[in-house]
Amino acid sequence: MLAPAPEAAAAVRVVTTTEDLASIVREVGGDRVTVEAIASGRQDPHFVEPKPSFILKLNKAELLVIVGRELENAWLPPLITQSRNARIQPGNPGYLDASQNVKILDLPTGAITRAMGDVHPQGNPHYWLDPGNGRRIAQTVQARLAQLAPADAEYFAQRTADFVKRVTEAEGRWKAALAPYKGLKVVTYHRSWSNFADGFGLDVIGYVEPKPGIPPSPAHTLALIQEMKAQNVKIILVEPYFDLKTPTAIARDTGAKVVVLPPSVGGAPGATDYLRLFDYDIKLLTDAIRESAAR
Ligand SMILES: [Zn+2]
Repeated sequence: MLAPAPEAAAAVRVVTTTEDLASIVREVGGDRVTVEAIASGRQDPHFVEPKPSFILKLNKAELLVIVGRELENAWLPPLITQSRNARIQPGNPGYLDASQNVKILDLPTGAITRAMGDVHPQGNPHYWLDPGNGRRIAQTVQARLAQLAPADAEYFAQRTADFVKRVTEAEGRWKAALAPYKGLKVVTYHRSWSNFADGFGLDVIGYVEPKPGIPPSPAHTLALIQEMKAQNVKIILVEPYFDLKTPTAIARDTGAKVVVLPPSVGGAPGATDYLRLFDYDIKLLTDAIRESAAR
């Protein structure tokens, strides 16, 4: 057995805000990184209750990777300040916004305002639900890890190339599974599925939330029901952390089926990493579509 090279640095300590990013960092970093996520895959990543343990994690981190696009704005900035860790402050090499090279949808036009509660003022932050963006995130992470641990740069490059290849192969399989339903009209609770719908050919015609981050209102729900009836929509996708009361009422009125679909790694027992998240969601979704068509 080969002894470790004397110049080999210790593994880079990485903290990510979400499990999705943690999974991609693990793919790129292998045994040259340790990775911990702050939010669990079962939580709404917009609203994570801060805990002292998060500050401890951040205090020791050499690299913090965030989703960005203001996804974590409600809870992360004070934690970064309280970590008293200069390495991970915005602008330093230990702070990485994973959104810098990805495809962003739902970019606002005109004046950007949070007055109406919209939690997506910088475009849709749920961009990881597009395999193309998964590849781009991996490449962004690779570049930064190579900068922080230059001795392992080749190792990170090889692992990234392997991940990119596996995502591309799986993407072909996922697209084939959803191809028969191209253009299928669906409703989603939150605007989490824009990139997923764009990549896999679904048509999201409406949302249970009147605006991202705003709870359902009777007037909006009524209008949505009418729209679903007019367009014959039979699928309502709901993230696991939202109340099922309104989606269930809408389903009862429209004959649609509610599908609780996790948008993040760890959001369901089978969705244990980035690739398995898509495997899990696409299986659940195609089963639900077939079931709703059979009724
Ligand atoms: Zn959102």
